Formats: sequence, structure tokens, C-alpha cells
Amino acid sequence: MKEKKKLGLGVKILIGLVAGIIVGAIFWAAMGPDAAAAFTAKYIKPFGDIFVNLLKFIVVPLVLLSIMDGVIAMGDIGKVGKIGWKTVAYFLVTTAIACVIGLIVASLFKGAFPILSLAEDAAYEAKTSNLMDVIVNIFPSNAINPLSTSAMLQIIFIAIIFGCGVLVAGEKGKPFGDFITSFNDVTQRVMGFILAVSPIGVFALMVWVVAAQGPKILGSLGLVLLAAYIGYILHVVLVYSMSVKIFAKMSPLEFFRKIFPAAAFAFTSTSSVATLPVTKECCDEMDVHPEISSFVLPLGATVNMDGTAIYQCVAAIFLAKCIGVDLSITQMIVIVVTATLASIGTAGTSGAGMIMLAMVLESVGIPPVYIGIIYGIDRLFDMGRTALNIIGDASCAVCVNTWEGNDALKSEKKTA
Ligand code: ASP
Repeated sequence: MKEKKKLGLGVKILIGLVAGIIVGAIFWAAMGPDAAAAFTAKYIKPFGDIFVNLLKFIVVPLVLLSIMDGVIAMGDIGKVGKIGWKTVAYFLVTTAIACVIGLIVASLFKGAFPILSLAEDAAYEAKTSNLMDVIVNIFPSNAINPLSTSAMLQIIFIAIIFGCGVLVAGEKGKPFGDFITSFNDVTQRVMGFILAVSPIGVFALMVWVVAAQGPKILGSLGLVLLAAYIGYILHVVLVYSMSVKIFAKMSPLEFFRKIFPAAAFAFTSTSSVATLPVTKECCDEMDVHPEISSFVLPLGATVNMDGTAIYQCVAAIFLAKCIGVDLSITQMIVIVVTATLASIGTAGTSGAGMIMLAMVLESVGIPPVYIGIIYGIDRLFDMGRTALNIIGDASCAVCVNTWEGNDALKSEKKTA
């Protein structure tokens, strides 16, 4: 039933998108570029702004609670420590590689991306804080400020450390842990409400973009989509094939054949979390020990998002180019760090990665309102990135299983 609802939303978004393009093109043709840009910016784009505001509003509770809940879901800190660090190391390394792949592919495409003339160009403020500043700024000096200023890295830090606090507090921490799990659930529903009005936001933003730019923008959207999919495919071929081959001694073709049902489900549902039961089933097929898969897969569905990371990097380069900004190497490094963390903070639900894109854009000073340019086709990005996200979770489970699980299986067989 849940799936049906999501598909319904997908169709509505598509309708909003197509209607927005048509109406935008009509404005553009009927009024001429300048008048159409001014009119739609004044009367239609504000509805898109409301939607973007709502996205920005939900992002703080979403990150705080979904990460805290992820840590709490690990159970006992001591027990999960051994498997946990290997899992987290695998997630972090593959996600950082994903970011680099995304940046390289997008940089190759950059020449073909357009520079748009949108009203807010002046809003760009270069943020070139050095890496040391970025690291120091992860650690908050105040518990409330990070929440009110949407300082995402600090929020992620707070989420992890409080999540660990819940685990270490044991029985006494349990009521708080349950509260967080429940609060997280509620927040996911609220995000659902916001996504439910997204077709209107898509429509308004698309009308504005097409009216201001003319239909030529559509070709550019095809290009940025192509860049993202090339990144996804490269990551599958380079990273997952190699890791299952080298670490799990498994034929990559066999791995892809076995994970295909989950990848296909993720592609259509655009939710890692909704795909979880199918991913688990596929891992059972690959003889991953249940103790490993039931730890790695839910954690992965919450924090491991390589497809999302690629998408965020490609989108950041594309949107920077759209507003005529050439990102420096330091800014690219900031993007790798923030996109890795942002993908960790992304909930495994439809469209969540696009919400977190705001954080990546803000880290280099690009106003998040430009997400509107690509929001209309987000589902097309989301299908590929969700499939990649869950393939990444499964590849991790298969590898950790070889590192740890084989022993567990052997000892089980011995005692049997
Ligand atoms: N839909 C993705 C997932 O569930 C998250 C995202 O939007 O990037 O894995």
C-alpha cells in the first residue's frame, strides 16, 4: 500500500513537472524572456519558495533523529563495535570514492553545462574556509545554536554522540532511545506531508525556470542526468565489482544477478528503507549470515548512500556552473566531506537525498533555492541513486560476512 502511495506521488510530480514546462514555455513564448522571467519570479516562484522553505525546515530534525536512531539501532556499543567499525569503514571509504567519481564525471561534463541568468546570481558568496576550519567546526560549542543555524556537521556530531550516550546509559537510556525512535518515525511522516505538496512546488519552480531560461534548459537537465548515471555505473563497475571480487572472493556477475531483485525494487520504489526486506532476502540467497545482514543492511539503508553522494556532487557542480561559479579545489574537497556526511544524514526514503543537497550547496555558498532547477526531475536521479545505495549496502554485507561471518558460520556448524 505504501508503495502505491509513493508511485502516486511520483506520477503527480511528473504531472507537475510536465505542466510546469508547458506553462513556463507558454509564458516564455507569449511574453518574451525578460517579461516572462520578471512575472514568474514575482507571482509563481514564491510558491516554489514555500516548498523550499519547508524542505529547509524539516532537514534539521530529519538528520538529527535519523542518525541518532541509526546509532541507537546498533544496540549494545561493545557488541557491535567489532563488526561496526568494519562496516562503517567500508561505508565511508566507498562513499568518499563515490564523491570523487561524481566530481570527476561532473567536471568532465562541466563545459557543456549552461550558465543561467537567474535573478539571485548576486546571492552567491564564496565560502572557501580551509579544511582545518571545517574540521574544527564539526565540534559545537553550544548545544542549541547548531540546530537553529542548521549547522549540519555539528548536528551530525550531536546525533552520534547522543546516540552513543543512549547506548552507554543502558536501561536508563532506553526510554529516551524509544522516544527518539518514535520521534524519528513522526518526523519521517512530516517529511511525507512536505513531499506530498511537492508537485505544486515542482510546478511553480519549473514554470519559473523554463519561463526565465526558455526551453533550452531542458537539454541541460538531460545532460546532468546523463552525468549522474555515468557516475552510478562507474561506481558499480569499479567499486562494487572489485570489492566483492577481492574481499568476498565472489564473482561480480553472480553478485549482481543475486542482488538484481532488490536493485529493481529500489529503482521503482526510490526508498532504501522500503527495499530493506528484499535486500535482506537477496543477502540470504548469497548466504550472508543473518546476524551480519540484520546489522549491516538496516544501518546501510540509513547511512550508506553512495548513489546519493554521486548525485549530490554532480548536482553541486552543475548548479555552481548554472550560476557562473567555478569551484576551487578546496571547495571540491569541502564538497567531498560534506556530501559524504550529507549522504550519511540522508534518510533512506524517496527524495531525501535532494533535501540533503541543500547542505552540500550551502557548504560552498550556493543558495539552496537553485535546487529548484533540478528538483522537477529528481525522481529520475532518485531511481538510479537508490538502486546504487542498496547495492552498496549488500556489497558491504557480503564483504563483512567474509571478514567476520565465515567464522560465525563455521562455529555454528561446529556446535551443530
Ligand atoms: N531515495 C534514496 C534512498 O532511499 C535516498 C535519496 O533520496 O538519495 O536510498
